[in-house]
Amino acid sequence: MGGGDAGDATSKTRVVVVGGGVAGAILARSMQFLADVVLIDPKEYFEIPWAELRSMVEPAFSDRSLVKHTDYLTNARVITSSAVNITENQVLTADGNSVSFDYLVIATGHAYSTPTSKQERLEQFQQDNQKIKSSQSVLIVGGGPSGVELAGEIAVDYPDKKVTIVHKGSRVLEFIGHKASKKTLDWLISKKVEVLLEQSVDLDSISEGDGVYTTSTGQKISADCHFVCVGKPLGSSWLQDSALRDCLNENRRLMVDEYLRVKGRSNIFAIGDITDIPEIKQGFLAERHATVVIKNLKLLMKGTKENKLAKYKAASPMAIVSLGRKEGVAQLPFATIIGCLPGLIKSKDLFVGKTRKTLGLVSST
Ligand SMILES: Cc1cc2nc3c(=O)[nH]c(=O)nc-3n(C[C@H](O)[C@H](O)[C@H](O)COP(=O)(O)OP(=O)(O)OC[C@H]3O[C@@H](n4cnc5c(N)ncnc54)[C@H](O)[C@@H]3O)c2cc1C
Repeated sequence: MGGGDAGDATSKTRVVVVGGGVAGAILARSMQFLADVVLIDPKEYFEIPWAELRSMVEPAFSDRSLVKHTDYLTNARVITSSAVNITENQVLTADGNSVSFDYLVIATGHAYSTPTSKQERLEQFQQDNQKIKSSQSVLIVGGGPSGVELAGEIAVDYPDKKVTIVHKGSRVLEFIGHKASKKTLDWLISKKVEVLLEQSVDLDSISEGDGVYTTSTGQKISADCHFVCVGKPLGSSWLQDSALRDCLNENRRLMVDEYLRVKGRSNIFAIGDITDIPEIKQGFLAERHATVVIKNLKLLMKGTKENKLAKYKAASPMAIVSLGRKEGVAQLPFATIIGCLPGLIKSKDLFVGKTRKTLGLVSST
């Protein structure tokens, strides 16, 4: 283990971070000069997830929101592969690496099917943009944050295009309150977006073939193209047959204690969306988890006793969903606001400058 004094022993402590999303990237960056850090991620880059929808209508936006891991990890090792299993003290990767750890931090929030190279991801945004530009009508499957933000981007940038959202739930944005859903629905309707609730489109047979899509209730929708925005699967399938299988709850999230250690483990932490912390899953909270674990790793490396570790307290529900370039809807602890005020906070830059600054990138603009 990495106990002992903070001199040479500390610099040799091996910290392995699995998952280079919001939580893992921030943690790996902060620890890289204090320990031997290895980051394992299937993509060679960190992607700011909430900038994706803007990049589809404005591909030039994506260059700042995709950051190669090696640009902010100048003193860490990056393995571009997926973790596939874990033993008591090693992580095994798909490309055949066995990586030993003193401390492990699991931050595999969601599994992405996006390209592994930044260049290919940039090209994907160009293709998505061409698809939108060359279509008169667009079908969006899914009315969660991705579907709503994409509809907002298209409706504001291309007001003449017909946008339809098909959502299987009874309201859009079910992850936040009813008031926010209703205000968002009204906003979408005011922008001439058609919203079909409690209907779905069969994703196994979906194709852009004849431009007609049939929903689960038999309704026909004409659209020149479609985008599937149904949310990404949790990144915990690799743990299901691992030494941590009993630490997954019924929703396949990792159970953590108040210090954000995986239940029953003294040297394995979990942060971000993968955890079972009873709070809304948001990047700014993933960042807070990372901050607590950075503190705890530093304390543990100095030999601090367990009861002196930093604790994490679940946060109140708070989220902002952008609605095009200037507006947004915000769920705050005591109020729900829609319009330019939440838009001012999020929608122009989508926190890209702030996130780049957190990663220590010299040019945050
Ligand atoms: C449309 C939309 C808008 C949002 N807007 C906001 C917002 O404005 N503010 C906000 O705070 N939050 C927002 N969120 C939520 C935010 O994106 C998530 O809470 C955040 O990304 C969680 O971070 P994470 O690091 O836990 O997981 P992720 O960001 O999902 O990262 C997980 C990482 O783990 C990697 N991974 C997965 N499986 C493996 C494996 N087996 N081996 C190795 N690596 C693996 C993935 O490649 C990825 O890099 C938004 C989400 C969406 C969808």
